[in-house]
Amino acid sequence: MRGVGLGLHNLSKHFGRVVALRELTLGIRAGELVSFLGPSGCGKTTTLLLIAGIYRPTTGEIHFDDRRMDALHPRDRDVGMVFQSYALYPHLTLYENVAFPLRLKRMGREDLDRRVRQVAEMLGIGQILERHPGQVSGGQQQRAALARALVKEPKVLLLDEPLSNLDAQIRLQARAEIRRLQQGLGVTSVMVTHDQAEALAMSDRVAVFSMGEVQQFASPEELYHRPANTFVAEFVGYPSMNLIGGEFVDGRFHGDGVEIEAPGCGYAGKGWLGIRPEHVRIGDEVPGRALVVESQGREALLTVEVSASLMFKALLPVEAAPRAGEKVGLDWEGHRLHFFDRSGVRLPGYGGGRS
Ligand code: ATP
Repeated sequence: MRGVGLGLHNLSKHFGRVVALRELTLGIRAGELVSFLGPSGCGKTTTLLLIAGIYRPTTGEIHFDDRRMDALHPRDRDVGMVFQSYALYPHLTLYENVAFPLRLKRMGREDLDRRVRQVAEMLGIGQILERHPGQVSGGQQQRAALARALVKEPKVLLLDEPLSNLDAQIRLQARAEIRRLQQGLGVTSVMVTHDQAEALAMSDRVAVFSMGEVQQFASPEELYHRPANTFVAEFVGYPSMNLIGGEFVDGRFHGDGVEIEAPGCGYAGKGWLGIRPEHVRIGDEVPGRALVVESQGREALLTVEVSASLMFKALLPVEAAPRAGEKVGLDWEGHRLHFFDRSGVRLPGYGGGRS
């Protein structure tokens, strides 16, 4: 199985007056796993359904390699899909569920049997094919849904929140399994998720959506170290990046309770300073008081009151954490800072050690 390059050109989808997707242009490389990440209602699933052919675009084109797909029926697109609900047929055995797409294609009995057993073995459900979905675990149902999507050897695999019905332990395992399988097969894949940890862990690249538009399309490292704007900065990374409003004047940033050098950003006016909680240390740059100290095992998450209107989050080793109510000073390494202009767009300068 070899994937195709997937091109989305100027793609829009309107539902009456609702603009679900606005002029999206995105190129996905053959064999890549790309996640669509964003809050509820931002257009992720709409885009996936456009690629699948379940929706027709209002404007724009979809290409698999050089072939234009947007006018084709879903059946003719060579796409496999796994939904959140798995949507297995409860009255059919796992075998018949997996075989279903091949029966639609009227594949001969022997070929069909060989293909079903091959993909079932690959996914570790070869021994339970005679059971019905109600007689197997959630993880096994999820694998059966994946087997059904892969049995046709699709050019593109579409995954819509495929792990959200699994409990935490199995979810971690299923993440790794899907990724290993996807890489092994080299099938171009798009996964919709609102779980940033899942997106970052599994994907070659992530498209971060907000309100029908892609805010940034980049590798997990790039999103974390060089977020393109304050939306991505806050959405990617947990706990969220601290963002402090203020003003850039003559190479310095003046914020509420924070005054620091801001060399190299070449910008004057209102803007934002960003620092991730895990990059905050104990020091003397910003004095404050620990309001809340939440132990997370190895680390403690502090909420520090810097001024009446500024709360700061800091993630510190438990042994370095103050007690709630104590005075505490905060500090950071300069290259960990991020700067954004008044509209939230990233400014050059510091950030992730690179600029
Ligand atoms: P979620 O994570 O909640 O599934 P999403 O990012 O996948 O969200 P979409 O399902 O793509 O979001 O929806 C984008 C917007 O389009 C929303 O405002 C939604 O209400 C609207 N929308 C989606 N499908 C339809 C439809 N069939 N008819 C009308 N409006 C729709």
